Amino acid sequence: MILMEITIDHEKCKVPAKCRKCLEVCPQAVFKMHLAKIEKYTEAEDKDWHLEPWYWPSCSGCMECVKKCPLNAIKVKARKIEGIQRLIGTGKYA
Ligand code: SF4
Ligand code: SF4
Repeated sequence: MILMEITIDHEKCKVPAKCRKCLEVCPQAVFKMHLAKIEKYTEAEDKDWHLEPWYWPSCSGCMECVKKCPLNAIKVKARKIEGIQRLIGTGKYA
């Protein structure tokens, strides 16, 4: 298994609550929205929600989120610990 690194450009994705395409398309449910400030949910506006790849270790690297993002705000690539990942894969690292 290869661990992936997911980056969201928050300058491009400013109001994820209005889009939600990555949340809907990800088969691994990697993304999560949270409130940047602690507020009552009933008082939160769309702009208050922040998107993060919260469950990134579950990412399979399918790239569906990258393809669906209308603002090209998501990047997914293999993490730079491939040597360790290879050792984990062979059972020589524990
Ligand atoms: S690459 Fe696939 S599994 Fe990973 S976050 Fe994007 S949609 Fe989800
Ligand atoms: S698909 Fe792109 S623009 Fe839409 S919420 Fe996800 S990161 Fe933001």
